[in-house]
Amino acid sequence: MAMAKRVPSGVSRKPASDRKARALLAWYDANRRELPWRAGPGVRPDPYRVWLSEIMLQQTTAAAVGSYYTVFLKRWPTVKALAAASQDEVLGAWAGLGYYSRARNLHRTARIVAGGPGGHFPDTADGLRKLPGVGAYTAGAVAAIAFGERAVAMDANAERAIARLFAVEEPLPKAKKRLAALAGPLVPATRPGDFAQAMMDLGALVCTPKRPLCVRCPWMRDCEGRKREIAESLPRKGAKKPRPVRRGAAFVALDRKGFVYLERRPENGLLGAMLQPPLGPWREEFPAPADAAQQAPFKSAWKKRPGVVRHGFTHFVLEMEIYVALFKSRPKADGSWFAPDDLSGAALPTAMRKMLAHAADAPGPPRAHTKVRRC
Ligand code: SF4
Repeated sequence: MAMAKRVPSGVSRKPASDRKARALLAWYDANRRELPWRAGPGVRPDPYRVWLSEIMLQQTTAAAVGSYYTVFLKRWPTVKALAAASQDEVLGAWAGLGYYSRARNLHRTARIVAGGPGGHFPDTADGLRKLPGVGAYTAGAVAAIAFGERAVAMDANAERAIARLFAVEEPLPKAKKRLAALAGPLVPATRPGDFAQAMMDLGALVCTPKRPLCVRCPWMRDCEGRKREIAESLPRKGAKKPRPVRRGAAFVALDRKGFVYLERRPENGLLGAMLQPPLGPWREEFPAPADAAQQAPFKSAWKKRPGVVRHGFTHFVLEMEIYVALFKSRPKADGSWFAPDDLSGAALPTAMRKMLAHAADAPGPPRAHTKVRRC
């Protein structure tokens, strides 16, 4: 987990820290990345944009975030506009970006901020941390970038560069506190926001996970990891446990026009409030077809598609067998029937989209679209 640590006022910094900060900022001025959410040099950053981008960037790459950020900003250019949207609209626009609790928290935070004093974001890391979905790293990053607070934001890029600069061999995640403590004194009193972004860029462009480009690094002279020739092996990481595999059945019900039946997941928990085809329980083994028929939401001649849909979540891997049935008349149920054209904007997470795609594409029993053309 990323961490942010406020640097107490009055901290005395050694000249070496000043030199490292100056070197990094000079490198940043010459090499900074152009990113859609980044204000140009000398332009005051908009806290809404900074916050929106930092929430999107949690556990997600800048490349993956780019188009989502652009769409969100166009659709909801202010925190007030985002607060006025429905949760379902926000979830629909977020679909595919993963970690959907972020989207729900984004929407909750927008409503809190828009309804609060002046409709402004809190301007300190401590204040920002009280908002839903804002952890230590995000609070530090937004406070530094949008409000110029001298806070350090330790994302994976910053942790890697600091671990190498100081040759920290203690493995992550145990080393997080130590890395934040080592980075704190480096943060300059002026331009702390640029310093935070410079750390991100250094990690992304130069101090890369494999083959760091030390000859282009502003910290090359000081870097203990490089001197000891262990830089590329840092930061060390604790052994990863293999992810368990859970298996189950998904039921894709189609009507004569190709409309698909979807349910909404419970508000809290994994993929909360997102849409899905009805699913059976997730266990170690797939259900036998007779058992799957018992789990199906409606009685029908459910046909199992060949193959399996596989999707990795953070703590487990999900494998689903897909059962499809066509209905001449729609059975009564609490969910809704969605037209094929409406699915692209629906609040469907990637795992569920894979299941629907498999139902439509795998060779085997007839497809709804084939049926439609026959009618
Ligand atoms: Fe990373 Fe190399 Fe710079 Fe050290 S010198 S911080 S290893 S890029």
